[in-house]
Amino acid sequence: MSDSGNSVVSLGCKGCGTCIQVCPTNALITNGGKVVRVDMEKCTLCMECIRACSNKALFLMD
Ligand code: SF4
Ligand code: SF4
Repeated sequence: MSDSGNSVVSLGCKGCGTCIQVCPTNALITNGGKVVRVDMEKCTLCMECIRACSNKALFLMD
């Protein structure tokens, strides 16, 4: 779990599924195949999903 107060947020996901493959903690929550939210209880802020999203739909927010 992250205790830094930062969050990963999703905006404009195209539903390609790439980030879901790379997330080591299964923290990405989807609805209809698109990432709608990140479970910050599970997310370690490893940044792998942000790096992997070719659509630049995932962001780190303070
Ligand atoms: S930052 Fe890492 S742990 Fe958090 S959702 Fe992305 S891939 Fe998963
Ligand atoms: S990699 Fe990007 S576009 Fe693909 S499912 Fe994840 S957030 Fe959506």
